[in-house]
Amino acid sequence: MSTHATKREAITWQMKQDAFLYRYAIICGICGGDIHPGQEVEWDHVHSLVMGGSHVFTNLRPVHADPCHKRKSALDVKANAKVKRLRGLTCNGPKKKIQSRGFDKTKTRKFSGEVVAR
Ligand SMILES: [Zn+2]
Repeated sequence: MSTHATKREAITWQMKQDAFLYRYAIICGICGGDIHPGQEVEWDHVHSLVMGGSHVFTNLRPVHADPCHKRKSALDVKANAKVKRLRGLTCNGPKKKIQSRGFDKTKTRKFSGEVVAR
């Protein structure tokens, strides 16, 4: 077994990301400005999760972590709170179903359509 081969340092995700940013014009999905190597990138959900968006690449866009995403997240927090409130997910828990009165068990309908006492 050879021992002279030096183990190369693994390429980190940060290095790959910077290479992308260097090679291609990556534009922030929020402000439309270039994202440069070394800048912190975050992935924004075009349609936020709480609004029914999902983790698919078509719903994700690179954005500046600061201030773009920070600012949007602050707005999202507000919007999310409202959606949750409207859906009844906070405070009092899920809204209870309205109890139906059910069927009248003291009466029955005959095959002919005539309603009679049981
Ligand atoms: Zn931006």
